[in-house]
Amino acid sequence: MSSSAATSVSPPLSSTMQAFIAAMPKTELHLHIEGTLEPELLFALAQRNQVALPYSSVEALRAAYAFSDLQSFLDLYYAGANVLRTEQDFFDMTAAYIERARADNVRHAEIFFDPQTHTERGIDIGIVFAGIARALRAAREQHGFSSAMIMSFLRHLSEEEAFATLEAALPLRSHYADLWHGIGLDSAERGNPPEKFERVFARCKELGFHLVAHAGEEGPPAYILGALDVLKVERIDHGVRSEEDPQLMQRLIQQQMPLTVCPLSNLKLCVVDEMAQHNLARLLRAGLAVTVNSDDPAYFGGYMNDNYLAVAGALALTRDELLQLARNGINASFLPADDKTRLSNELEQFAATQ
Ligand SMILES: [Zn+2]
Repeated sequence: MSSSAATSVSPPLSSTMQAFIAAMPKTELHLHIEGTLEPELLFALAQRNQVALPYSSVEALRAAYAFSDLQSFLDLYYAGANVLRTEQDFFDMTAAYIERARADNVRHAEIFFDPQTHTERGIDIGIVFAGIARALRAAREQHGFSSAMIMSFLRHLSEEEAFATLEAALPLRSHYADLWHGIGLDSAERGNPPEKFERVFARCKELGFHLVAHAGEEGPPAYILGALDVLKVERIDHGVRSEEDPQLMQRLIQQQMPLTVCPLSNLKLCVVDEMAQHNLARLLRAGLAVTVNSDDPAYFGGYMNDNYLAVAGALALTRDELLQLARNGINASFLPADDKTRLSNELEQFAATQ
């Protein structure tokens, strides 16, 4: 792993603080399953499926994970996804993520997947659903790891293509009623405002899906307003640029609109130059419902605990603030009320023993 992320974490965390973060029960609400494909697995799948890679080794690929902005990452991300061909590939990728998340004491994950990344390459949408769902169900049965699937539209493509994806996916809905609860919007933000997807999101709302959208990562605060007022989302993915609009900030606080913030992603994609400059602590202290998430951990140098460790160190977060971030994650999840209560009790019990 590159050491560049580590250099921006100024005060080293005490070992007790590190242990506190590691042991704290967590939820993950902003995670692209295709972004969990580690170079080792990517190479293994390329070999299994006889896909040629433009990198000679795992090390050479990892060295290419130096991004200047969102687009430079997306180019590599879509190239990496090309090794995913079979149901077993999607299963293996998802199972590897769950194992990693469980090691970080993640109890519940709501996972984005982008069918268009795969259907564009001729992969059947049913294969994508089946592989991911099989791993999630196995984790639920074997380990009590709960999860949800959020099917996301690629915003650099057209609304018509999003509608076509929805049409292709809907016949599968009854097979995945236990998992497929949400619709999201991701990929290149700039130049692709939320308004572009107004009709398809309206249709998804009618169909009873939970709605979320990436907004205010690289895009302006107006995109966050568009996601709220036009797409009618229940969470904002990223949303760090909300700080530029004081009125919007007040609204987000009043509505307790969750923001799924991804600190290491913001650092790697140069949304911030140094973790010490990240506004997560300011947003949290202003009263926003901020959560911590890992986005595309294989590409951004860290899973859930790495993200917590990075902000705790660079922004001098207190234990109470870390607990609040975890609480926000539980509240912002799409879990049924009794599951939320169960997880909240677990978190408060953990807090009481510290
Ligand atoms: Zn994301």
